[in-house]
Amino acid sequence: MYEELDVIIKNRFIDEFKDGYPLISKESLNSWEKVSKEGTILNLLDEKRRFIAKAYHGVQNKGMGWVLTKEKKQKINLEFFKDKINKAIKYREDFYNNKETTAFRVLNGEGDNLGGLTIDYFDGFYLLTWYSLGIYQFKDEIIEALKSEVSYKGIYQKRRFDTKGQYLESDNDFVFGEKAPEPLIIKENNENFAIYLDDGPMVGVFLDQREVRKTIRDKYAKDKTVLNTFSYTGAFSVFAARGGAKKTTSVDLANRSRAKTQEQFEINNIDIEKQEIIVQDVFDYFNFAVKKDFLFDMVVVDPPSFARSKKRTFSVAKDYVKLLKEIIQITNKDGIIVASTNCANFGMVTFRDFIAKAFKESHKKYKIEESFSLPKDFKVIDEFRESSYLKVVFIRKLS
Ligand code: SAH
Repeated sequence: MYEELDVIIKNRFIDEFKDGYPLISKESLNSWEKVSKEGTILNLLDEKRRFIAKAYHGVQNKGMGWVLTKEKKQKINLEFFKDKINKAIKYREDFYNNKETTAFRVLNGEGDNLGGLTIDYFDGFYLLTWYSLGIYQFKDEIIEALKSEVSYKGIYQKRRFDTKGQYLESDNDFVFGEKAPEPLIIKENNENFAIYLDDGPMVGVFLDQREVRKTIRDKYAKDKTVLNTFSYTGAFSVFAARGGAKKTTSVDLANRSRAKTQEQFEINNIDIEKQEIIVQDVFDYFNFAVKKDFLFDMVVVDPPSFARSKKRTFSVAKDYVKLLKEIIQITNKDGIIVASTNCANFGMVTFRDFIAKAFKESHKKYKIEESFSLPKDFKVIDEFRESSYLKVVFIRKLS
């Protein structure tokens, strides 16, 4: 049994919650004084003490907690979590049956009506990511629910809930069952990725870019020279190379990116001699490339929302136009720029404005070929479109 508390919602927020808005903001409650412990179940009441919804208190950068149910009688217990997981699994049935792709998201937080938690699947292994100390209070029942609803080889977890939403460094992210091989090789549209479930905050690939990678491989890469900036483990380079790119160049600041990228090439039988991996700040690389008159047929740019290096800080919201202008300079006429961001602070309209501005200031013309947002397994509910963070645009440089 979890602690429960009645709390009064401000009048102007009541309709939102009735319509299915899931996030408890700081402002939505009259007083947080009584609410102390994360993981407390909050019965949201109107000023006449009529029941609106049941939520839990968990502090994230997004807010102070998430609605769990609008059913007054619903108990928050093992059965409740089983039901959430079961529904989430059903929605991903085609992923479970797809032999060409063995990694996907099973439960996407508020998109599956369980804010604060994601569950990913990696070829028989499950990875739970807890985004607040609040949701983590339910971990025993949630893990038990998962165990009873799926067959699994092993279960891992990441805790990302210190004050800044950062990963809590841990020697051991393993929870239960069998340990995964290191690396665990998963498949994505028949290509391989090396995954490390217990090696820091990131496992080696961002699953939400699956469709973008496939599109690069199947429609754009053939015979092209491809520059992959902020390349991490080189996932876009792998798909470009497998799609027949003439050459890929991967640039990332992190030392570890070289070995990680080499490994991804190797397990996909890609000739490493033909690929270039550069460990460097991309902005320095741009200066170098411009000086050398380099021109690429395709440039992929998918930066972190914020980054701080010794020399500079970068923020997508402030600096994307500048970044694009650098890239426009080193892209061939008729070349493709794959512009991506996972920044949740602005939407597709603003992102397209950034693109327009960058081309205008560069005195170049462009055409948008296609765009992408989150794939099906990264489910988003209509009542909370804010969580649809991914924006990817394929831009053709016309002049
Ligand atoms: N595009 C990648 C994911 C990028 S993650 C993919 O799809 O797999 C962000 C990466 O940007 C990290 O690997 C980080 O090391 C790198 N990075 C951050 N700042 C950078 C900079 N100034 N120059 C180059 N790489 C940078």
